[in-house]
Amino acid sequence: MVLNLIFLGPPGAGKGTVAQAVMDKYKLVQISTGDLIRAEVAKGSDLGKKLSVIMSAGQLVSDSIVSEMLKSELSKLVSKKGFSGVVFDGFPRTIPQAEMLNGILLSHKQKLTSVIYIESSKEKVVARLSARWTCPKCKKVYNTLTMPPKKSGLCNDDNTALYQRDDDKPETISKRYDVFIEKTHPLIEFYEKKGLLKRYDGNVPPKESIAEAEKIIAKIAK
Ligand code: AMP
Repeated sequence: MVLNLIFLGPPGAGKGTVAQAVMDKYKLVQISTGDLIRAEVAKGSDLGKKLSVIMSAGQLVSDSIVSEMLKSELSKLVSKKGFSGVVFDGFPRTIPQAEMLNGILLSHKQKLTSVIYIESSKEKVVARLSARWTCPKCKKVYNTLTMPPKKSGLCNDDNTALYQRDDDKPETISKRYDVFIEKTHPLIEFYEKKGLLKRYDGNVPPKESIAEAEKIIAKIAK
């Protein structure tokens, strides 16, 4: 069975952490539009420079740019042998993006299986993101409060020095949460009406959040 899942939730709800945990189990691939955008920024291209300004302000990149990035990434992944589904992390973030995603999936003869909404309060996400550190090499995410690396400041898997994202500063996090409520929250009703939405309380430690998501996915995959 092919599973195409969206993880929806405010920044810091744990979408990436949960996605990493379920991907292996169900042999899914992950598309994080945030990672695609950061990769463009790292290239130092003209587009990357523009994207960096938008990201650092906690704003959303335009629907057309981000959809193009997603489209080309998805084409590469779907055509790979043994494709068994994808986890969308951080996309869609607006109603137009959700509509574009429908079209993109259809063009690959795919459809959305479910949308998993990880509910999280503003206080919780500000506390979590301020403590978030990422490995630049393998992209593994740590939290100095709840999931610290074994050796301080170094990735457990490849010993690379961890870094903190520019947009994980408290003022930017608060802005990103407000942007989520304004632009992304309407997607909850959008997917609820389509009967695709599953939700759970993500104001819990990562292990419990992963267990909740796994329970939901196990039911979907039955
Ligand atoms: P994330 O890693 O998902 O928190 O994304 C980091 C930043 O990249 C966001 O704050 C936005 O500026 C931008 N971004 C990521 N995904 C999208 C998207 N689907 N639509 C618009 N902007 C996005």
